[in-house]
Amino acid sequence: MAEQERVILSDVEGFSRKSGTDQHGARWTQFEVDYLAEQEAGECCICGATLESGWLCLDGGEEVCDGHVETVDHDPQTCGCRYLGNNAWDCGHLDQQGGG
Ligand SMILES: [Zn+2]
Ligand SMILES: [Zn+2]
Repeated sequence: MAEQERVILSDVEGFSRKSGTDQHGARWTQFEVDYLAEQEAGECCICGATLESGWLCLDGGEEVCDGHVETVDHDPQTCGCRYLGNNAWDCGHLDQQGGG
């Protein structure tokens, strides 16, 4: 059986349309196809399903189902992750640089 690909997002923000950063540092955002605007359905790059909504990679343009995406709520108090250096935690979270 093929290994399931997963997209693990940290730094998830937003409400109706969320966005986040995956374990490779790529940005993802939720999308929903707007048929009234003549947009076409997407296709999941992992399982090939037709997507009316899901997640879009802003860096590579891949689209995936909601089901492949896990969101990580990083909180140093509760997450249990380890700081790796270079703003990176082993749960996949990346600290914002410059701390604004
Ligand atoms: Zn899929
Ligand atoms: Zn963490």
